[in-house]
Amino acid sequence: MAIALVTGGSRGIGRATARQLAQEGYRVVVNYHRNLDAANEVVEAIQAAGGNALAICADIGDEQQVEAMFTEIDALGEPLSALVNNAGILFTQSPLEKLTAERINRVLTTNVTGYFLCCREAVKRMSHAHGGQGGAIVNVSSAASRLGAPFEYVDYAASKGAVDTLTTGLALEVAAQGIRVNCVRPGLIYTEMHADGGEPGRVDRVKDALPMRRGGQPEEVAQAIVWLLSDKASYVTGSFLELAGGR
Ligand code: NAP
Repeated sequence: MAIALVTGGSRGIGRATARQLAQEGYRVVVNYHRNLDAANEVVEAIQAAGGNALAICADIGDEQQVEAMFTEIDALGEPLSALVNNAGILFTQSPLEKLTAERINRVLTTNVTGYFLCCREAVKRMSHAHGGQGGAIVNVSSAASRLGAPFEYVDYAASKGAVDTLTTGLALEVAAQGIRVNCVRPGLIYTEMHADGGEPGRVDRVKDALPMRRGGQPEEVAQAIVWLLSDKASYVTGSFLELAGGR
């Protein structure tokens, strides 16, 4: 059974993706950082539906914890064939002139360094150059990388710009090694992340300004991620899929 790792698989977009990947027949590793109960709920829901999943705690911004997580995955004895780099953070809405170095570095450590570290460990295992069987990676960026998130979180938007560039560069590096690397850019999706920005009802406040006049559901993002990981997307690499309702 092929293994799929979903970072931040315990809530929001990651949870929806983990559940759909389990339905596709993957053994799903649900990574989380702090909320064990949420991770266990996802694992139990997958198992109740006849799927296969386990939870692994690791802060993706911490190199040793990432390495330990991949070592734990190695011990499962099956190939890692899919990575969804999804875990991401943002902080309270604020203009750039009030951002501290501490906050900026926290955002970049999780949203950028974390993605790089998980890509590095996945490539070492998937690459034909290392005897791997190939695989696929999807990076979860954001429409914010195009829009800049002014007066809200330019630090977060910039971190997603880095994710976009990571996708382009890594896709080219590993295209001949049996690994496809793609990116999704969600817009306003109903998850708990907006509460971290200080506005739990943000999607409903701005949805009427969107071309489709509605926010997106995590499941709608998950469907695109699952497709990009699948053989149906076998000639797709270095691509960006906008999931922002036309924005
Ligand atoms: P969410 O509901 O806030 O969930 C975040 C997930 O990431 C949780 O499972 C959390 O686990 C995990 N996480 C946070 N920091 C972590 C760390 N250092 N190491 C490992 N796991 C960590 O977020 P979401 O809205 O689903 O967002 C998922 C991704 O979509 C993010 O990359 C986000 O930037 C992107 N996105 C979201 C939206 C949106 O409107 N929601 C729009 C565009 C892009 P714990 O609970 O255990 O900490």
